[in-house]
Amino acid sequence: MTTVANMVGQKELRRLLTAAFTGGKVSHALLLIGPTGSGKKSWGRLLAKALLCHERTGAEACGECQSCRSFDRNNNPGYVSLKPDGTKLKTEQVKAVKRNFYLAGNAQVCLIEEAEKMTAEASSSLLKIFEEPPAGLTFILLVDEARRLPDTIVSRCQSYYLRPLAAKELAGLLERERGVSAEKAALLARISMGLPGHALALAADTTLDERIVEVKSLAYNLAVGRAPIYQLLGWADQLAQKEDLLPALELLAMIYRDGLMRNLCRSGDLVQPREQPLNWLEKIMPGDLEEAILLLNQVVHELETTNVNRRLLLEKTLILLQRRLT
Ligand SMILES: [Zn+2]
Repeated sequence: MTTVANMVGQKELRRLLTAAFTGGKVSHALLLIGPTGSGKKSWGRLLAKALLCHERTGAEACGECQSCRSFDRNNNPGYVSLKPDGTKLKTEQVKAVKRNFYLAGNAQVCLIEEAEKMTAEASSSLLKIFEEPPAGLTFILLVDEARRLPDTIVSRCQSYYLRPLAAKELAGLLERERGVSAEKAALLARISMGLPGHALALAADTTLDERIVEVKSLAYNLAVGRAPIYQLLGWADQLAQKEDLLPALELLAMIYRDGLMRNLCRSGDLVQPREQPLNWLEKIMPGDLEEAILLLNQVVHELETTNVNRRLLLEKTLILLQRRLT
């Protein structure tokens, strides 16, 4: 059973929540902030379960009472989950929560996923509830970034942040819960940038091994292939169409980072090289690998933060990478 105590990582979050629950300082409006895949929903559900539990200890639900048992069966009458209806979370959805709360006459917790998708009207309906919070009704809002919600909402919530997990914590989780091999778990933890949701989705992806092989062969071809320009443009086009472009670029950067580490360890004799060195990576100058990694990091950042033309950016990137690495 998942509990606050056995959730991986998030030490600070656990400490703050436990303090708030123990000190009786849990607000009627909680805001969980963290990137997609960081575990907001799992934490939100744990908090909802604790708030509804009859015998909780600190932030931890007892797991045994009638409320906890019905929560685990997904039919706790006090638990309401709101998701966008289509692309928007509408005011009627918010109003219905309050109406049903009065009708039901028992404590309720409403989890609002993707709270940034509330329409302006929905936000102001929620704000009205926050201004005169009915005793026994608690809201837990989930959002990627606080700035995507109106300040008036954020300022009335108790905010908690979810941080990416350390690679080691996440790899451990994948090994334990998904039976992933240690080597693959370490790789997935790094590609998914510490986000358990992404890592678990990747672990469940049956085409993953194939995709890793693809990226590895691209890494190799760029470094030694001397591919003609039309071929580079073809690869850029294929990459641009990938849904998992960002993890693929992360993996590409990681392969070169491994090469850099091998190079540095070998030249400094600090660490014994691994048993099977990738010879082609070791032939690249450390400075060139470093440049390639920097470039890939910049590209990932640009793709995440702007609406840049993916294909054009990738064409330029692959040309630069090949020039740098060969
Ligand atoms: Zn309980």
